[in-house]
Amino acid sequence: MKIVVVEDSSLVLEHLLDFFASQPEFTVAGHARGEDEALALINQSAPDVVLLDLALSPGSGLNVLKRMRATGHPARVIVLSHQPADAYRQRCFDAGADAFFEKTGDFGDLVAQLASWMPPLPLNEAPRLRALARLDILDTPEEEVFSAITRLAAAVIGTPIALVSLVDARRQWFKARVGIEICEGSRETSFCAHAIVNGGLFEVEDTHGDPRFADNPLVRGDPGIRFYAGMRLVLPGGEAIGTLCVIDRIPRRLDATQRMALEVLARNVVTELELRQRVHELEAEVVRRREAEVRIMHLATRDSLTNLPNRAALMDRLDQAIRTAAREQTLLGVLFLDLDNFKLINDTLGHHAGDALLQCMAERVTSVLRESDTVARLGGDEFAVILPALHTQDEAVHIAQKIIAALSQPLTLQGRPLQVGCSIGLAVYPTQGDTEETLLRHADLSMYQAKESGGNQCQLYSEQMNLRAVERMTLESELRQAIEGGELELFYQPQVRLSDQALTGLEALVRWNHPRLGLLAPDRFIPLAEDTGLIWPLGLNVLEMAVAQIAAWHAQGLKVPRVAVNVSPAQLRDGLVDAVAAALARHDVTPDCVELELTESALTADGPAVLGLLQALRDRGLAIAVDDFGVGYSSLALLRRLPISTLKIDRSFVSELASNQQDVAIVEAVITMANSMGLRTVAEGVEEDAQNVALRVLGCDDGQGYLYSKPVTSVVATRWLHARFSEDN
Ligand code: C2E
Ligand code: MG
Ligand code: MG
Repeated sequence: MKIVVVEDSSLVLEHLLDFFASQPEFTVAGHARGEDEALALINQSAPDVVLLDLALSPGSGLNVLKRMRATGHPARVIVLSHQPADAYRQRCFDAGADAFFEKTGDFGDLVAQLASWMPPLPLNEAPRLRALARLDILDTPEEEVFSAITRLAAAVIGTPIALVSLVDARRQWFKARVGIEICEGSRETSFCAHAIVNGGLFEVEDTHGDPRFADNPLVRGDPGIRFYAGMRLVLPGGEAIGTLCVIDRIPRRLDATQRMALEVLARNVVTELELRQRVHELEAEVVRRREAEVRIMHLATRDSLTNLPNRAALMDRLDQAIRTAAREQTLLGVLFLDLDNFKLINDTLGHHAGDALLQCMAERVTSVLRESDTVARLGGDEFAVILPALHTQDEAVHIAQKIIAALSQPLTLQGRPLQVGCSIGLAVYPTQGDTEETLLRHADLSMYQAKESGGNQCQLYSEQMNLRAVERMTLESELRQAIEGGELELFYQPQVRLSDQALTGLEALVRWNHPRLGLLAPDRFIPLAEDTGLIWPLGLNVLEMAVAQIAAWHAQGLKVPRVAVNVSPAQLRDGLVDAVAAALARHDVTPDCVELELTESALTADGPAVLGLLQALRDRGLAIAVDDFGVGYSSLALLRRLPISTLKIDRSFVSELASNQQDVAIVEAVITMANSMGLRTVAEGVEEDAQNVALRVLGCDDGQGYLYSKPVTSVVATRWLHARFSEDN
């Protein structure tokens, strides 16, 4: 029940407010002290009851009452007075007051009066309200079924007003209405609130003659109810949630037919309510299922790490994009993207860091794309991008460059500053492929080309690449036969002591005598062998040839200090130690005659496993060299833990030694460090005498390069060794 308090004494006001605060069924909508203030508040907040003090300053309570009634304000008014009761009582009632109390400080009478105006509460109020809430109907828009029934009720019974009224906790709300504008009212003044607690029909033939309603604001004011008849709307669980009611402004009584009509129509309302609820439940079920389907789809089409579409989703979208491009005659770009050196980062910093890096890269790619573009993760560090609706090929190249620029921004991973490049291959529909499969394959091929050209760049697909790919495939099957058929051959390149040019070793470098293409250098087939797993049989073959050659030289009395054999990262697996030992045993060669060359990245990958393998090799007496030192990421601290014997300084540092001061500084630092660790240093790619001199000054032990000799066949090497040894003798 909504109450407004008009009182100018702070003491009494506080007292009243305190009191009502502790009574949950009453709400004080506001309070005022003066006459005008009071009227403004009453008009604005439309209370059910006004508690009115007679003596106000400024103004008077009696004036408030008179002005309220003059404007037809229907709220009930209780006058509170200090004055001796009789003097004012009658004047107040004459002016339209509903009750009169002396301010005694005891509110018992007052509360009894207020309570008498409150409609009764059903016994099952709580489950009733829950049932109403379950219908999910309050405050929903008008629905024709209910409006039609309501119109029918008004027409059949002949009343100006008819309602489907739902009784909520504090209000009644009309789902359908005929003859009145408002769509809700307070529960306190509601006739329907009475109707729901009475079984069957609730009929008030003349409100003026009924003490419960005579002073009801809806009787006194708008809509001026004289006659009310409400039939309860009872749900199957027994909850009366409201009524179908008819209202008139003249007194009347329903006849038997009208009663029956109201009853049948009310039952119809309930049936419709149930139907409506069932439909809503079904709809909700459909929505729930659809959401579940979407979730499942999402799982099946998303990559869980980056939340990007996965390969399946990419193929689907690409298929659609190609259709659209064909229809709208536009170009379509497909990018294949692969991070440079991701494996290295993953292996050195761990998988958590790798995952974080992939997420960061996924965000960066997305950030430079348009809404209509698609970026998908294909797995590992491979991504693909679809660029629809292009007009020129250059647009795709431009976007690829933006991606490269975005990805190569520095970032910090686990507190380490890092810069990651990427290689992108690009194929454009329709010129470089017109199916999903060819576009992706061509973009993939171009990506390899970009990688081979040094990475961090974009390559557009060309027909040659396809030829190369075909060639690669042919080479692969040929290489398989070559390994078994003896087409591989070892060349040897000497390593000499810088101080006196004495021979300190020979590096075995593999060549392929290809029947069609001639002599092939290792970079033409070693990467292929690594990719296809052929590196293992190839490596065994090389090892066998090298050890056999050492044995042959020994047999000829040629004492070669040691022969270095290159080992690929892919060869670092369990069988390696045994394979090496078996080859040595077969030819009766001691392990100190062989040095294995491994690149930095091979050595630093996957810490413990590699470490164990290296240690096992060292324990058997084999020397281990770090090849191409300086181009990888390994730290000196890491090398310190590895059981290595030789450091080979990469050619790139040696080549500029005479001209580049910075290279001098690096080489000097490397040599100093190697010396402190007791490692032999070998400079690779020594081509000029000046480099030879510079390296000697810096304290490098040995050199290898064209200055001393190119790699030569075993026949030439044997001749050379013979000459050397006869010189020496
Ligand atoms: P690497 O182990 O660093 O071998 C040195 C490479 O530098 C050789 O190239 C050699 O010919 C070249 N080189 C030597 N001196 C000079 C010079 O003064 N100037 C220049 N510009 N180059 C020089 P090659 O024989 O083409 O071998 C290339 C790479 O192939 C090798 O690099 C090695 O990593 C790999 N490789 C060679 N043989 C094998 C093998 O049997 N197994 C494996 N897994 N890899 C091999
Ligand atoms: Mg080497
Ligand atoms: Mg090298």
